[in-house]
Amino acid sequence: MNIHTKAVHAGDRRKAGAQVPVTTPIYTASSYSCESMEQLDRVIGREENGFSYGRYDNPSNAALEEQVRALENGHGALACSSGMAAIQVAVAAALTDRPRSIVAADALYGATVGLLMNVLEPSGVKVRFVDVCDLEAVGAAVAEARPGCIIAETISNPLLRVGELDRLAEIARGAGARSRAATPLLARPLELGAHFSVHSVTKYLAGHGDVLGGIVVSDQDHYETLRRLSRITGPVLGPFESYLTMRGIKTFPLRMERQCANACRVAAWLSGRPEVERVYFPGDPAHPDAAAIRRLFPPNLYGAMVSCELRGAGREDVFRFMDRLKMIVRATSLGDVHSMMLYPVMSSHREISPKHRERMGIRENLVRLSVGIEAAEDIIADLEQAL
Ligand SMILES: *Cc1c(COP(=O)(O)O)cnc(C)c1O
Repeated sequence: MNIHTKAVHAGDRRKAGAQVPVTTPIYTASSYSCESMEQLDRVIGREENGFSYGRYDNPSNAALEEQVRALENGHGALACSSGMAAIQVAVAAALTDRPRSIVAADALYGATVGLLMNVLEPSGVKVRFVDVCDLEAVGAAVAEARPGCIIAETISNPLLRVGELDRLAEIARGAGARSRAATPLLARPLELGAHFSVHSVTKYLAGHGDVLGGIVVSDQDHYETLRRLSRITGPVLGPFESYLTMRGIKTFPLRMERQCANACRVAAWLSGRPEVERVYFPGDPAHPDAAAIRRLFPPNLYGAMVSCELRGAGREDVFRFMDRLKMIVRATSLGDVHSMMLYPVMSSHREISPKHRERMGIRENLVRLSVGIEAAEDIIADLEQAL
């Protein structure tokens, strides 16, 4: 079934009593009773399917989990209270019974770097960073570190690099490591050989700027471990957020297509502006990962993030430019229906020293735009009057 169809139907319409609700209700109960003690015993012991306690399972979450599992063609999914909670439980599941060593992309989300360096390393996990767009370097790092897990993001932020997920998964499997990656219209990591796919549903999946949530989709081998760890540590999503996320996902493929098309127009417009020194956009034929993008992404879908460097601009110039925006929202996060702009030096990469940032290629004049579903000409008009 096409992803547009699955987004609308998957997970919903489970029988509740004699009736079938057309969409899944918000189940707020924290625990569930059964007709008899015998049955409650079987449900709590997981010999019989059913719900017993909110930290284990909830019908609203189960519907969302089925919806995202179907989009990703995975075995099962776990809905979490944030993208970071999802990453943490996925890494814990990946490293269960495996070497406590991780090879990670050097261009990861800031809090993920924090999780690796400030939470996992102090607890004895070895972490090694590598440029995941350089497969030779990944091969060498894996041969040396013998990791239990490889972590990469596609598409990276804010420089929008695209690692070859299938080749990374191949290296991981060759070394016996578990791999995972973070977006399902453009790339479905599990189909490309990864063991886990992790989303911050806060971004494109929920897509309306009103949910904080995450989800892990895994293959069959890791699903039980994932749920077992979640039953113990309880990183679960609340039922109201589950409902909002499911509702959001029904239009996710539609929104994403529109956002991708808008991004192509905005990137092309920015490229022609004298005030703009450089545009970063995966649809650019001169993108450093153009071959990987052509091979892995569907035609004309390059994501909806566009970054650019303003010619000769320092921090004050960037502030003045962003203060002049009238419609585009000045805020962190991405993937919402409204266009948003962020200044990485001030937000996502704030904690990193200027020298290290420079080495990462994140300059003082770089801004990142998450393109929304508005009319492209209105987004362009706002940028034009602000430049
Ligand atoms: C947003 C984001 C996260 C964190 O997700 P939250 O929902 O904010 O916890 C992690 N990784 C990437 C790549 C993200 O974009």
